[in-house]
Parts: sequence; structure tokens; C-alpha cells
Amino acid sequence: MSDDCIFCSIVAGDIPARVVAETDDALAFLDANPMARGHTLVIPKAHHQRVADLSHEESRAVFDLVHELAPVIEDAVDADAHTIGVNDGPDAGQEVPHAHVHIIPRFENDGGGPIHVATGDRPEVGDDELDEIADAIAE
Ligand code: 5GP
Ligand code: ZN
Repeated sequence: MSDDCIFCSIVAGDIPARVVAETDDALAFLDANPMARGHTLVIPKAHHQRVADLSHEESRAVFDLVHELAPVIEDAVDADAHTIGVNDGPDAGQEVPHAHVHIIPRFENDGGGPIHVATGDRPEVGDDELDEIADAIAE
């Protein structure tokens, strides 16, 4: 637990949250400032900032809960789809430094866009560079 982390305080029960699901290693609660009805955050109970900081077990707990909750949330708010994403690091827009997955219900004609709007201008990436990047990741 990190003393000055708002999500650790929610895990500890020190500040209230609308908890919708809990497992040994993960917790899900409604976002206090929702981007859509049913906007839910799924977090590891232990304090880690980045997805890659989670242990394999914690990662499985978080993403299994995302997998389980998405259709339940969709039913609960009568949504048509979801945007599921992580702002993984401050440069990606992460404001709360405790890893969390956003499950954001989407509705037909809700005026939003695809996850592609998260980045700025697209880089020009040719075939050679795509090959290099794929090799660098695969290594
Ligand atoms: P981030 O930008 O870090 O990916 O998103 C943080 C999210 O946490 C935001 O959507 C924000 O509304 C939500 N949030 C911030 N503080 C609280 C809080 O105290 N309680 C709850 N339930 N959500 C919070
Ligand atoms: Zn924390």
C-alpha cells in the first residue's frame, strides 16, 4: 500500500467507493467521474503504477475480472459495446499512479470515437521499419 494513493485508500476502505466486484487480488468499482454510465475501474489490490509492474498472478486477476465484468456491465446499463483501455504511464495520460483498467460502456451514436483517437498524429512507418519493430518486440 502507498500512503498517498487514492486507490490504495479505496482498497483499504479508508475512502468510500461503489465496489461492484472483488477477488483476492483485484477490485472493481465505479469511476467517480464517469465518461459513460457504468464506467468501471478494475485495479490490482496491491500498489503498482504500471501494468508491467504487476506479477503474473495480479495481472491475471485484473484482466480476468475485466473479462468477467464487461458483459455484466453491458447488461446492467444496456450498453451496445465497450471501450476497454489503460492509460499506462503519465505520458499516456495516467493521472492516478495505481494501475487500472477502464471499462467504458459505449452506446450507438454516443458521439465518441475509437481508441485510435488516444494518440496524436500518426507516424509514417514504412515496411522496413515495421519489420524492425516487429523483430525488436519478438526478440
Ligand atoms: P487515469 O487518467 O489515471 O487513467 O484515470 C483515473 C480515473 O480515476 C479517472 O477516470 C477518475 O475519474 C477516477 N478517479 C479519480 N479519483 C477517484 C476516486 O476517488 N474514486 C473513484 N471511484 N474514481 C476516481
Ligand atoms: Zn495505490
